Amino acid sequence: MRKKSKIMATLGPASQRLEIIESLIRNGVNVFRLNFSHGDHETHHNTIQLIETAAERIGYQPAILADLQGPKIRTGKTLNDAPVFLEAGQKIKITPNPMLCTSEMISISYPHLLADLAVGNIFLLNDGAVSLKVIAKPVGKDFLECEILNSGSYSSRKGVNFPDARLRISAITEKDREDIAFILQENFHFIALSFVRQPSDLDELQQLIAPNPRKIRIIAKIEKPEAALQIDAILKKCDGIMVARGDLGVEVPLQDVPIIQKNLIQTANQQGKSVIVATQMLESMIEKPFPTRAEATDVANAILDGTDTVMLSGETAAGRYPVQTVATMRRIIEVAETSSYFPREMRNLKLEPHLPAHAMCEAAAWASQDLNYIPILVFTISGETAWYLSKIRPQAPIYAFSPDAHIVSQLALAWNIRAFHVPFEENLVKLISLAEEKLLTGNFVNPSDLVVILSGTVPLQGSTNFMRIKKIGEI
Ligand code: PGA
Ligand code: MN
Repeated sequence: MRKKSKIMATLGPASQRLEIIESLIRNGVNVFRLNFSHGDHETHHNTIQLIETAAERIGYQPAILADLQGPKIRTGKTLNDAPVFLEAGQKIKITPNPMLCTSEMISISYPHLLADLAVGNIFLLNDGAVSLKVIAKPVGKDFLECEILNSGSYSSRKGVNFPDARLRISAITEKDREDIAFILQENFHFIALSFVRQPSDLDELQQLIAPNPRKIRIIAKIEKPEAALQIDAILKKCDGIMVARGDLGVEVPLQDVPIIQKNLIQTANQQGKSVIVATQMLESMIEKPFPTRAEATDVANAILDGTDTVMLSGETAAGRYPVQTVATMRRIIEVAETSSYFPREMRNLKLEPHLPAHAMCEAAAWASQDLNYIPILVFTISGETAWYLSKIRPQAPIYAFSPDAHIVSQLALAWNIRAFHVPFEENLVKLISLAEEKLLTGNFVNPSDLVVILSGTVPLQGSTNFMRIKKIGEI
């Protein structure tokens, strides 16, 4: 049994090596995330080359996602990047001016800090580890006085969240624009936007990537309460969402996160959009070769909630056991997917406009199920038919074939899809036999196995209009 749900792994100092990337793919990674909050363009360029080399060696094309930093606010640097301890009840100053951060004064990378914060505002350092309250705004000074509400520490460039302040900050920063220009030159399949606040944030990103000839799919990271509230409208403007629990858990009360997660997964699934659950899934494996029971349960529950993909962050980017973490995650997924709690019902997606291709996907999915879950072979140029088919959730293996290598890699994120590159071929009979040969060579099917074919009678984008049930090898 191969797993149907997908694994996304973040690459970083612990994993930016060819052998590790190879092992990560072999152990179940489908998508690599390059985090633009860290690392320069040269490093990202080199990492992409490593992924491509590993992919070639293994014969599996993972997708690559560029995660834009977005309007993330951070602390400045501490001495030698060492942790600084802050004690509850003590007072501390914050300033927008760059300076070395201590236990007396913290520099915060937000230029309108003094104007936009009011006395009484609460804010958090280091992904919520320390909370502070603004207690005074001394006139004519370039700092605010704050009280430390709970003891904890922070270090260089840690995230700062202001859940109760209205900040003047654009959705796509200057740094994001420079990163986007680089991303468009490189071989990325997805681009994720951090801290999406409203649907129009995605229009801006859409416009910036529109000139690109290859379609890059957009993932909206849901980590602000206002985004969770407007999820229907946001989903209409993107190809998928990430339940970004790291920042979300700081921006909303922690106890709300599990329910928001379920709601986001359900809404994305109803709208036929991809969904990724992210952050702290196997967090303790950053330090240890095994996860906690709670973490194993969290991964399984995300799968049982109906997510398409689960993501690893620090575990694979900076942890001691990147490969073991992926292997652990894969085993948890495999058991969850074969359990009786795993949702197996096909989804009745009736998305507007309901296209002939969608009707064909439904027909193919039902035919496969009627015949005791025979594999579905889907031929797609843009990938859209395969994405739609995936969201209906047929339980039989789905094999997608495209003449476009970019689309083949992109489909690595799609739930239960294994995609293959085939040459462009106008003759449908020849095309099907090329595809069958690939499946036979890879031992995905046996001669004479019954399969469902989903295709267009002409090799054009958006032309899916044809379904056939046949035996492998039969003309
Ligand atoms: P990040 O996003 O790791 O880029 O912050 C994910 C999250 O916030 O959960
Ligand atoms: Mn985040």
